[in-house]
Amino acid sequence: MSSPSSSNSDSQYLIEMCKHRHLRCPSCTYDLYQIASSTCPRCKQELQISLAFEDVTEFGAYTLGIVSISISIALPFFAAIWLWIARAELGDVGILALGMLIQAAIFIIPLFLWLKAKEKLITKSNTNRWGAALATCLFPPISFGSLFLTFYIADYFYNL
Ligand SMILES: [Zn+2]
Repeated sequence: MSSPSSSNSDSQYLIEMCKHRHLRCPSCTYDLYQIASSTCPRCKQELQISLAFEDVTEFGAYTLGIVSISISIALPFFAAIWLWIARAELGDVGILALGMLIQAAIFIIPLFLWLKAKEKLITKSNTNRWGAALATCLFPPISFGSLFLTFYIADYFYNL
């Protein structure tokens, strides 16, 4: 498979790479910054260069986006269910419950876009990914705010 010369140039390349980067040994997590050989100084394992890709389903930023947008959907959704269950006490809240369901439906759009952007997110830098993920954290407060506002308006007009 790999001739001695190519594995030798691989180790040279690895040493060169570690001159400028704080890469970690995949086995013992030792900081390989400016190592002199392609062997880990701590665990003595022979290090190799290989191509890999980050499994986007596992990366935190992507998951954070799904969770925060899902919360913004769940808030009005469960509010609608609660209204429907409590309708005997609260009176005619059918319209209000419908409004909540519409709100929940609206927040499905950013969730859909986020799921669609998965492949694009792989190509972005960590900073941009987390920036986008943190931006999705605005959705739950927006959802809660509009929920609160809807209840407040309904209470004012219908005297729940
Ligand atoms: Zn090691």
